[in-house]
Amino acid sequence: MTLLDGNALAGRLAEIVGGEATDSPIRCRHCGEVGELGRVVVFASAMGVVARCRSCDGVLLTLVDAEDGRSWFGMPGLSALPLRGR
Ligand SMILES: [Zn+2]
Repeated sequence: MTLLDGNALAGRLAEIVGGEATDSPIRCRHCGEVGELGRVVVFASAMGVVARCRSCDGVLLTLVDAEDGRSWFGMPGLSALPLRGR
């Protein structure tokens, strides 16, 4: 497992949702903390990534890469993700 910041999500998010989001303002559903996606804590492994809130450690976003080539994208700690570049 590798510890990164939210900027590590830029390439994968652009592939999945087609826009730049790391400088987007986000709000944590767990504690209400507001910040940029690029500042979250990201745990990366061969299976994918988990982004957690710097304030409360709540899970904000998950991206799991399955062996069959599909990717599972979830935002359990975010209600919306503003994107640029569409
Ligand atoms: Zn939080």
